Amino acid sequence: MNASPLMLDGNRLATEIRAELRQKVQESGASPCLAAILVGNDGGSESYVTHKMNDCAEVGFQSRLIRFPESVSEAELLQAIEGLNQDDGVHGFIVQLPLPKGISNQTIIGAIAPEKDVDGFHPENMGRLTLGLPGFVAATPWGIMELLRRNQISVSGKHVVVIGRSNIVGTPLSILMSRPGADATVTLTHSKTQNLKDICLQADVIVAALGIPGFLRADMVSDGTVVIDVGTTRVPDSSHPRGWRLKGDVAFEEVAPKCSAITPVPGGVGPMTRIGLLMNTWTAYENSVRI
Ligand code: NAP
Repeated sequence: MNASPLMLDGNRLATEIRAELRQKVQESGASPCLAAILVGNDGGSESYVTHKMNDCAEVGFQSRLIRFPESVSEAELLQAIEGLNQDDGVHGFIVQLPLPKGISNQTIIGAIAPEKDVDGFHPENMGRLTLGLPGFVAATPWGIMELLRRNQISVSGKHVVVIGRSNIVGTPLSILMSRPGADATVTLTHSKTQNLKDICLQADVIVAALGIPGFLRADMVSDGTVVIDVGTTRVPDSSHPRGWRLKGDVAFEEVAPKCSAITPVPGGVGPMTRIGLLMNTWTAYENSVRI
């Protein structure tokens, strides 16, 4: 039992890294530009994109927001993507997911030029990650690795259990963690995994990324475990002015006392994810001036 675990403060680190990046931009006179395509009026997507644009302004990047109505066709989106692929003034861009029914995520993501795919979702970048080649790593897995690294938490030789195998979090993170250099032994689990509790009890590090609030309970966690909570579900909360609050996948109050380190929600992985996108945009800019 560890009554006061190390709090892995993503907000503090993100502020630190943003300041480092802002200084680099100022000193170099660089002018990186991130564009975002936003379809429809989903509240979550609107706020994610607004944060991304604000983050750009804060570090001295330019940004462009391209909006389409919910009724947009796949062909129109593909045309916009081709425009951004060809636009030398845009160094990286994202298409905010989810997209409306009838539009294929894979077709849209596959149309983004890999060298501008700062979300790291293109099959070429996923393949590069798998092979250990340079490329864009998705922002959330990058953010988790950086959060651990800057808190001097090594996963080398450790047993890391990742709960959730999505293409944007669990799968790329499991690859990053098991690559030479990180050297973790990874168990990637999902909804069909049997005996998840027993597997979690053997973990040195647990990453909960499944989107079920409060899923990871104290009886699934051994003393001294490092717990990373990726979950961000909006749950109704009448005491909050917005009427909702973010809840993670970890039952924080009961799990935290057992941990050696843990991320809060909000303020843990979320701010680090936002930094990941800025870092990828910076890299895309640097690559473009090097060519
Ligand atoms: P997703 O695409 O919905 O995938 C969820 C994964 O969890 C799937 O692999 C699913 O298994 C697995 N799962 C579901 N129920 C399970 C169970 N009972 N036991 C074990 N595994 C189970 O989710 P995502 O996009 O990765 O997002 C996960 C959460 O992270 C969400 O709350 C999301 O909002 C949040 N998120 C946060 C950030 C951030 O920056 N903080 C970034 C991205 C996502 P199957 O594959 O078998 O269906």
